[in-house]
Amino acid sequence: MADSTHPPEVDRVAASRKAIAARRARASLKRDVSTRVVTPQEVLRRSEEPGSAAATLRVTEFLTSIPAIGESKRDRILEALQISPVKRLGGLGVRQRRDLQAFLDARLPEPQPRPGRSRLLVLAGPTAVGKGTVAARIAADHPEILLSVSATTRAPRPGEVDGVHYRFVDDAEFDRLIADGELLEHATVHNSYRYGTPRGPIEEALAQGRTVLLEIDLQGARQVRAADPSATLVFLLPPSWDELVNRLVGRGTEGPQERARRLKTAKVELAAQGEFDFRVVNDDVARAAQEVIDVAG
Ligand code: 5GP
Repeated sequence: MADSTHPPEVDRVAASRKAIAARRARASLKRDVSTRVVTPQEVLRRSEEPGSAAATLRVTEFLTSIPAIGESKRDRILEALQISPVKRLGGLGVRQRRDLQAFLDARLPEPQPRPGRSRLLVLAGPTAVGKGTVAARIAADHPEILLSVSATTRAPRPGEVDGVHYRFVDDAEFDRLIADGELLEHATVHNSYRYGTPRGPIEEALAQGRTVLLEIDLQGARQVRAADPSATLVFLLPPSWDELVNRLVGRGTEGPQERARRLKTAKVELAAQGEFDFRVVNDDVARAAQEVIDVAG
């Protein structure tokens, strides 16, 4: 018989399942902060929702998940802000929450949108985040936008058409494109093949007042920024770090070693998101595509 001190077996099983799920959600959130998929301020905002993973996260664990905050720094911060180490984010007082927010804003300012950008739109983001899918969606919905076709030295994959998905060239031709100044930017991506953005079609489209979309890697985005400081740089984020890993594993195009390499690069790329004008979360392709269009003005 169940009574208040001995809950029935089913209740205990359900409760422990719930506890495991909550622990997993908190672990996942901490990974998001440590990989910079989510800003600490965003977690603090989410913690206002009672019962959420963020609300039940201990302030100590929250702080040490932030890159560059170790245990001794964490303790100094908690002391300075007069926050007890046993507190959970959802249990912070109004003053504590405000002070923690101010501390984060001062030390780790969130990237702010920069208005007044040009129609040269660069979409970058970590591996497997879905840049190609979002770019294809934009191109399908907005034929007035030019989706740049890159040159690459890699071989076509099944279904890829020369001149549509890429301009497939050999090393000699790629060298010629560079030598003749025909590329706006170029980079070796994932330590293997070379990719570059042909300059001509872009300049032509921009001169006609069209928006141009480049789907390129971080190195390329930086070169475009250097060549045209008014270019609009958009960083595509996964909804969570775990989701990024799932997408990479799910598409099954890389072996375990290559996946590990790409995830390492992804962490480096995520750390560079502050260089971008806008950040868009790819939780839903149609919505993310629309958001990219909206920032293009
Ligand atoms: P994939 O070989 O899977 O089509 O593309 C691999 C990576 O190359 C992606 O991250 C993509 O964004 C990047 N990429 C594609 N075209 C260009 C380009 O023209 N320039 C640069 N820098 N990166 C590119």
